[in-house]
Amino acid sequence: MLPISFEFYPPKTDEQRVQFDRTVRRLQAHAPQFMSVTFGAGGSTLSQTPETVQRLREDHGIDGVPHLTCVGGSREEIRDLLHRYRALGCNRIVALRGDLPSGMARSGDLRYASELVQLIRDEHGDHFHIEVGAYPETHPQAPDAQIDLRHFQAKVTAGANSAITQYFYNADAYFRFRDDALALGIDIPIVPGIMPISNFSQLRRFSDACGAEIPRWIERRMRAFGDDADAIRAFATDVVAAMCRRLVDGGAPALHFYTLNLARPTQAVLQQLA
Ligand code: FAD
Repeated sequence: MLPISFEFYPPKTDEQRVQFDRTVRRLQAHAPQFMSVTFGAGGSTLSQTPETVQRLREDHGIDGVPHLTCVGGSREEIRDLLHRYRALGCNRIVALRGDLPSGMARSGDLRYASELVQLIRDEHGDHFHIEVGAYPETHPQAPDAQIDLRHFQAKVTAGANSAITQYFYNADAYFRFRDDALALGIDIPIVPGIMPISNFSQLRRFSDACGAEIPRWIERRMRAFGDDADAIRAFATDVVAAMCRRLVDGGAPALHFYTLNLARPTQAVLQQLA
């Protein structure tokens, strides 16, 4: 089995923390390389992300990896967080631009993830292994795929070590993106981001916001199952596991799972891959 990693959002309430700990314990059984924790753009999880990373590292003995977004933040805030993560023993970070929450006007000192990568390299040398985001179906704000790829290249030139993709349900989009990147000389590992399907209407909303395409045939099948939750779960697991198998056979270097803090949908996929 390839290296795998899991992504979480920081729990905010006691109830969410209990669920988080339970999910982490279950997924730990799959021996992940690391577990990462998202960061609310504009600083909305300024304290929760470091606390959750600390919880993973100290309570669970896992390589907890922070996401860090630069939009809406000042250089000083970013510097403070980087020092805090070093003090926690982190040597890997997921560096992103983020999206400003609607209504938030402050744009921050850094405009793009490439500038954040540069800041981390300038101030911390090779201490951090830097992961960046990649978009096989093109970032929704990019004018076209080629320009987006050049912007991806700028993050690699600034010092990114590897990339994790936005989720997708079309393996060909990943292969094409990886091959186009390679043709430009971008040879860092590009790890597919996998979103197991648990709640279809929630997925629909996420996908509209982040520009990920849910193929029509998947959507039509899901709709046809109506309220039959077991049938939906079984179909969703089959579809995602089959795509993972194609990705692995096609040379994906690792798989990164967006867990949404739930163990079961990810475990179901991993059990089919075992
Ligand atoms: P960038 O690489 O900066 O690109 C953003 C857009 O700007 C693209 O359209 C790009 O083409 C364009 N661009 C880049 N450079 C330039 C330039 N020099 N001139 C003009 N245009 C340019 N969001 C969160 O808020 N918190 C998280 O924890 C989080 N985790 C994520 C994890 C992964 C693996 C991924 C793939 C995404 C994650 N996101 C997260 C979402 C991410 O923040 C958004 O997709 C955001 O819109 C783009 O972030 P980026 O780092 O890819 O941005």
